[in-house]
Amino acid sequence: MIRVQKSATIPEPLPTKGKKARKLDCTAYSRNVEAFHSGEKTFKSDRNIYTHAKVKRQLVIDQYGKCCYCERRIGDKGDVEHFRPKGAVQQASGNPLIKPGYYWLAYDWNNLYLSCSVCNQHHKQNHFPLIDPETRALNHKGKIEKESRLIIDPSQDNPEEHIGFRGASAYEITPAGKATISVLQLNDVTLEDDRLNYLKYLKICYKILENSRKDTGNLIARELIADATQLLDEAVQPTAKYSAAARSAIETQFQYVSD
Ligand SMILES: [Zn+2]
Repeated sequence: MIRVQKSATIPEPLPTKGKKARKLDCTAYSRNVEAFHSGEKTFKSDRNIYTHAKVKRQLVIDQYGKCCYCERRIGDKGDVEHFRPKGAVQQASGNPLIKPGYYWLAYDWNNLYLSCSVCNQHHKQNHFPLIDPETRALNHKGKIEKESRLIIDPSQDNPEEHIGFRGASAYEITPAGKATISVLQLNDVTLEDDRLNYLKYLKICYKILENSRKDTGNLIARELIADATQLLDEAVQPTAKYSAAARSAIETQFQYVSD
């Protein structure tokens, strides 16, 4: 997980149709508060607005086509994910669903990310744990700024201050890191395996670089050095998949990456 820089310009139709739809939802809520909290009434958020091609395209650009949580490369195949769940919220697995969710953020640019279906649909779902659930904003008059959220927000926080990597395995640096690893299952077997295979490949590049350095008179060795250097330089860029894990592996000279 790495920091995401969202575009300062909010893509259409969020500032137009999205703003109108939000207003209608807020009015509907104020007229039927009880019914929305009991679940008798629910919001029918308009997918055509928040998954609009322009919104998705901007997210793909801002996130380099990667999932905002696991850094898998997904291109435009990812989901438009609501950071604060729009339909219902859960503090923890097994806890009751809190309705009606963060309905007023359904079309909020700051609340939208590109996420892979594994992170969004299988792991995160409606989870949005807070240190103190009493601080939760329960309707559009609530203040999300006052919430003591536990999930790392990739555009508000620096994820690398909360989650570190030892080889392919993510570890917590802070309580927010711990909650995020747990909710998003960032050490899920399939994901960790994929990360490990990628780091093993980078380790080979690193070894080539280390072992060919003394042999600069050899043309093939020089070419290998140039290629390996380029591959490792690219691997730490925000454009590369699993860049946080790659950065940690290079900093620790691949000592935690098995051969
Ligand atoms: Zn993901």
